[in-house]
Amino acid sequence: MNEKKLKRPSIPRAVERELWLKAGGRCEFRGCNKYLYKDGVTQQPKNLANIAHIVSWTPIGPRGNEHSRELATDISNLMLLCSDHNNYIDDSNYVDTYTVELLHEFKQEHENRIYQVTGMGQDYGVRIIKLYSKIQGQMPNINDRSISEAIMPYYPLERTLNMDLTKVESYEYAQRIINQIVDLHILSDSKEESYCIFIMAKIPYSCYLGYVLGNKVKADTFQFFRDTQDWKWRNGNFGHFQCISPVSDDKQNQVNLLIEVSGNINKDYIPQHTTYSIRAEHPSFSFLQSKEQVVEFRLKYREVLDNIRDTHGEDVIINLFIAAPNPITFELGRVIMKNLDPTIQIFDKVDNDLKYALIGYLHERIRE
Ligand SMILES: [Zn+2]
Repeated sequence: MNEKKLKRPSIPRAVERELWLKAGGRCEFRGCNKYLYKDGVTQQPKNLANIAHIVSWTPIGPRGNEHSRELATDISNLMLLCSDHNNYIDDSNYVDTYTVELLHEFKQEHENRIYQVTGMGQDYGVRIIKLYSKIQGQMPNINDRSISEAIMPYYPLERTLNMDLTKVESYEYAQRIINQIVDLHILSDSKEESYCIFIMAKIPYSCYLGYVLGNKVKADTFQFFRDTQDWKWRNGNFGHFQCISPVSDDKQNQVNLLIEVSGNINKDYIPQHTTYSIRAEHPSFSFLQSKEQVVEFRLKYREVLDNIRDTHGEDVIINLFIAAPNPITFELGRVIMKNLDPTIQIFDKVDNDLKYALIGYLHERIRE
């Protein structure tokens, strides 16, 4: 019997309908995603889809085998494709590349994505802010795909605010750029918008972005996890923060405030003043794991600022020394109450110097 004379079994209407639905009307070939119900030139409705077989409907066709007959109308074996990609996967030059396993992977990936994306309500759009600078000479990389994964089930709205500080060499210049971008894009139209913030930048820059945004917008921060190379917050019970206040409560005109989360700060390398500290139970790069820890930090930091002001008066100057990841450094700025808090200045290590150097003001006291 000549196989070529066999007729391709027609796909039942219900199977076809389900495939269209699962594919979202788009080509399922990885990376294509072409919309298949509109003519590209006239924009009129037109069916451009091919229903392709992963395992051919005939044993001698592409990827055909002894199951060809029973899989001929089975939805798990069918893909919605544009005609280009249908020809491509069946082309004898490429048929070995596009194996049954790989095509199943394309189909699954596409259909899962369509299901998730179409399940999102319209309230789920958020705006993304990326703040990045060189860190110890290294260029940062904040990958868009990992952002999408981190903010699920929310989805990024089209425009990302890029705060590119990679060419910035001074804190003052960084402040100017941050102010400009925020003035231009955020405060004027913040209304009900929600921001997700991804930072790979020097500590003072991150503090300052938090300071400028303050409570004016709803903002969620994320942290890059080195072990899993992603930005997804983790669930569970993780470590807590301790506040350490000095015993003497004499009025001082300057005090130190140490933020020891990712490591310890060596007191030999900072100016000698009365010293407060907020520290992780066990400071390390992996201490911060959950959003809840950020909230706990925020509350404790607010308490310490109030305590310092009550003890030393409004004209005290607070010197900040920081060993902490970006979601914490962002809070150091964000929590400041601009009309109430005393002057706060940031110290940081510069170049390879062990000693901390004054970088600049995070906040200057407004009230006289
Ligand atoms: Zn295609």
